[in-house]
Amino acid sequence: MSAHADIPAVPDWAAVRADFPLLERQVHGKPLVYLDSANTGQKPRSVIETVDAFYRRHNANVSRAVHALGSEATEAYEAARARLAAFVNVQADDLVLTSGTTMAINLVAYAWALPRLGPGDTILTTRMEHHANIVPWQLVAERTGATVRAVDVTDTGELDGDAVRAALTPDVKLFAFTHVSNVLGTVNPVREFCREARRRGIATLVDGSQALPHRQVDIAALGCDFYAFTGHKMCGPTGTGALWARREHLQAMPPFLGGGEMIREVSFERTVYNDPPHKFEAGTPNIAGHIGLGAAVDYLSSLGMAHVEAREAELRAHALDALRGIEGIRVLGAPREAAAVISFLVEGAHAHDLATLLDLEGIAVRSGHHCAHPLMACFGVAATCRMSMAFYNTHAEVDAFVAALAKVRRLLA
Ligand code: PLP
Repeated sequence: MSAHADIPAVPDWAAVRADFPLLERQVHGKPLVYLDSANTGQKPRSVIETVDAFYRRHNANVSRAVHALGSEATEAYEAARARLAAFVNVQADDLVLTSGTTMAINLVAYAWALPRLGPGDTILTTRMEHHANIVPWQLVAERTGATVRAVDVTDTGELDGDAVRAALTPDVKLFAFTHVSNVLGTVNPVREFCREARRRGIATLVDGSQALPHRQVDIAALGCDFYAFTGHKMCGPTGTGALWARREHLQAMPPFLGGGEMIREVSFERTVYNDPPHKFEAGTPNIAGHIGLGAAVDYLSSLGMAHVEAREAELRAHALDALRGIEGIRVLGAPREAAAVISFLVEGAHAHDLATLLDLEGIAVRSGHHCAHPLMACFGVAATCRMSMAFYNTHAEVDAFVAALAKVRRLLA
């Protein structure tokens, strides 16, 4: 057996694309060019079929019924947790399945931060965060008297290491920051920031929503306290995701929501909670969705995340090169390390008009503030157009996008 037996061969990208039925669609009579994967990713056939098969053959609630279907559903659900945990190199028992990043961050806000923080404490975040990593901290601050502060973003759309170190003052109890920016694609040096925070006794929460779809993430190696992510951007169904937390936090944190599944025994005198991660999974979960997410990580593993990353780096370089050839285009930021996400503006045109006209050409891009008002303010803009790619996009699609953009620009000139 070769030393690299576990590394898949470079995929045949045309065959990979054919795994995504939706990409065969036409929109407004034109072939769809889907460049909105940072918003939500498309799903391969194996994920769609897994969800379909669950509802057709195995549908039952988890952790409740002793009948055959109940056991099958529970086994499949827990197997999906285990596969997801292996994908990010953590223990399955430390992975709380949630409806996505938003729920995962709110879980930390309510179960970890709320009971701990008070006046004089600071939650440090950054100006490149998605609102999901800002607003929960503001809610905590309102209730506890703590303060929320943010590290600035440089003109290149990066976080400056010295600025981060300077901001990690003794009043900071939590540093919550994104692994990859959903607007600029910036990849932050997570290990370095976590090391700096840990050295000062500060806990860290990393928003991994935009990292997991694009690169291999070894959460155990990052040195963070909490890692939140969402399934629908990484080929999984919507309403799926997880929070990984250090075991000592999961054990110390009180439950966030109460109900079925999260208990061992209930009486009016005394209720005994289940062990983590179930202690944080009240109510019937998104069973089919998470089983589908298990299929999604199998699919991504079969491609090899190193190949995914390399493929997307090529597509990004191609797109940036081609965009430079169009007059009047402003690309926001110039991060040294970035995922395949590019935000841009066209002189004299509103982002929504651009996106609407591009849509008529079959090109799906997102326009607006991308749930990142503070980042928009850093660049002095109200909105941008964002093209975001995945490994299933093609160089021909990048060319089609750039040709359509040049056409739209002439129309708006
Ligand atoms: N954080 C980042 C960086 C995101 O891009 C997103 C989604 O766009 C979220 C958080 C929120 O994820 P979800 O809506 O799946 O909870």
